[in-house]
Amino acid sequence: MHELSLATDVINLVTEEAKKNGVSLVREILIEVGDLSGVEADAFQWALELLIKETILKDAEVRLLRTPGTGFCKACEREFEMRNRLDICPRCGSFPSEIRGGQEFRVVSMTGE
Ligand SMILES: [Zn+2]
Repeated sequence: MHELSLATDVINLVTEEAKKNGVSLVREILIEVGDLSGVEADAFQWALELLIKETILKDAEVRLLRTPGTGFCKACEREFEMRNRLDICPRCGSFPSEIRGGQEFRVVSMTGE
């Protein structure tokens, strides 16, 4: 499953950062998951909580920050909410010229001691 390998990557990244900063126990991590990032947030959280058990993240509170998808139509010059990458402009029906939000997938912050 895609989310399992993503969770492994996040754990490796956070573990490395923690070591660099002399952190031995991570208390909280905040991860931004855009609705158009292709990551299923619930599955990702489940995978992460499963995999952190043997790591320095084992007691960490996992927080996900969901960002909504936003498309921009150049014809109408307006932004609109996208639930799906293939959503069209609700006003004129054309494909959005740009995706302006919701593609993020990143570790925003972590705290530890
Ligand atoms: Zn439009």
